[in-house]
Amino acid sequence: MPVLVMKFGGTSVATLDRIKRAAKRVGVEVAKGYDVIVIVSAMSGETNKLVGFVNETSPLFDAREYDAVVSSGENVTAGLMALTLQEMDVPARSWQGWQVPVETTSAHSSARIEAIPPGNILAKFAEGMKVAVVAGFQGVSPEGRITTLGRGGSDTTAVAFAAAFEAERCDIYTDVDGIYTTDPRIADKARKLDKIAFEEMLELASLGAKVLQTRSVELAMRYKVKLRVLSSFEEMDDAAGTLVCDEEEIVESKAVNGVAYSRDEAKMTLISVADRPGIAAAIFGPLSDAGVNVDMIVQNISEEGRTDMTFSCPVDQVARAEKAMADAKASGDINFHDLVADTDVAKVSIVGIGMRSHAGVAAKMFSTLRDENINIKVITTSEIKVSVLIDRKYMELAVQSLHDAFALEKAG
Ligand code: ASP
Ligand code: MG
Repeated sequence: MPVLVMKFGGTSVATLDRIKRAAKRVGVEVAKGYDVIVIVSAMSGETNKLVGFVNETSPLFDAREYDAVVSSGENVTAGLMALTLQEMDVPARSWQGWQVPVETTSAHSSARIEAIPPGNILAKFAEGMKVAVVAGFQGVSPEGRITTLGRGGSDTTAVAFAAAFEAERCDIYTDVDGIYTTDPRIADKARKLDKIAFEEMLELASLGAKVLQTRSVELAMRYKVKLRVLSSFEEMDDAAGTLVCDEEEIVESKAVNGVAYSRDEAKMTLISVADRPGIAAAIFGPLSDAGVNVDMIVQNISEEGRTDMTFSCPVDQVARAEKAMADAKASGDINFHDLVADTDVAKVSIVGIGMRSHAGVAAKMFSTLRDENINIKVITTSEIKVSVLIDRKYMELAVQSLHDAFALEKAG
């Protein structure tokens, strides 16, 4: 039998009624002849509540017990989903991560899946079970302790199962109807994409971060798992949602498929550092040790052996970055004249695999921003992305005008 993986997020299993609605969708796929693996999240709000209990009990908690507590929300929905399916006469049973087993590393609260031996579940399918309902987000460490995969980890559970069972597809049911060309709250012309390439999806993480855990997209890309993101609140339709797939399945791609943004950025400039071998290591080593997530980096031309070094990071990490730099200066590892923080910037990016074969994409982005009188402070590019830092107050305008300029409201 072909295998289908169906994942239901927290809002899709938030009440018994919604679990029933989700179970009906599972029943439709079973009727088509699939053996179905259902991955469930905890009821929405439940994981936050459990995290709160742990923090209140023990602020410097033992991560193994954090995982024991926080993984439990999924156990409830897995059992309830199996019961609901049984009530519909669909042969189903629930599986906790350790029962499968979902073998993970021992990095508690952010474990990675190492292997999912399919034997136990396949044996049950062979006996006539139609649906394996698996608690998402959890696994078991080599030491035999319960682990969790990081917030949003049920998506990764779903993709890992799809890879392990060579599923035909992995359907991610959520509360939005797909991936959009940009955030519909910012640009009302935002359009739902029918298809998007894995690489684009990774770059558009700022739009899709809440929809798919980044790790799940990486895994899907590695194992070529076809992922479909769709809403559990709309009528069932085989063409619904957005297919996240290999770029080979996207015949003709526009130069740009999406406009992403990140609102709370800061631009930091170290004025007058010595331009010598090892200086970048001496700056970015301590920043990384301090947990600062550096994104863009620009080193300016050097004059008389001194240069300015600019980088961007999330605005809430500015204090940490300043301290790391002050400490490095005090210990004599680096020497600079001043550290200037501009905390009112945002990053806007255009993304598209078609950029590889279309010329003039970056130039068009820059002229669009010029026409709106928006000053660009830093530019970085990759093969399929151009990003700029601009004043935060122009972020919405930039997103809208780029969305218009690249005609994203129209299908490609
Ligand atoms: N319930 C977990 C969380 O809220 C995992 C998930 O839903 O993906 O992060
Ligand atoms: Mg999620």
